[in-house]
Amino acid sequence: MKIRLFGIANDSIVDGPGLRYTIFTQGCYHKCPGCHNPKSHDMNGGYLKDINEIIAEIDENQLLDGITLSGGEPMLQIEPLIEICKAVKYRGLNIVIYSGFMFEQIIKDSRMKSLLEVCDMLIDGKFEQDKKSLSLLYRGSTNQRLINIQKSLKYEKVIEYETNEYNEIII
Ligand code: SF4
Repeated sequence: MKIRLFGIANDSIVDGPGLRYTIFTQGCYHKCPGCHNPKSHDMNGGYLKDINEIIAEIDENQLLDGITLSGGEPMLQIEPLIEICKAVKYRGLNIVIYSGFMFEQIIKDSRMKSLLEVCDMLIDGKFEQDKKSLSLLYRGSTNQRLINIQKSLKYEKVIEYETNEYNEIII
């Protein structure tokens, strides 16, 4: 199975806790003013990559703490991402997902929810330029939330991660 990508960062330290393999999917229609990655919007842009190649690259890096699904909009390529996530979970790595959709929107859509269910942390919502802040952990604007997915699904309400005085996540 192939996935359409904008790019990959195999040693990211800014897209979630620890060292991460970040998959930037191609395609997004949210059109957030001030988007950090406008070249990722074109649904037919980027390039195709087989998910088995991605899983093999993840296996090659023994130092990874997890993977991150970013974009573009990951929720537009649910099937290949679920396959990657299942393989990653089997290997004991954690999964962060970014989405321009909010948690409340995602759980109302069975397909989007199925991808959410195999991930651990959601950074949700569109980038809002007037709420931009450079001091936020893993986020671009203050409306975006760092959501504990599994706890939020279990208790059926949004439960966010807290950060300490060093701007580190308290898990
Ligand atoms: S959701 Fe992300 S990639 Fe899409 S327009 Fe907004 S900031 Fe850009």
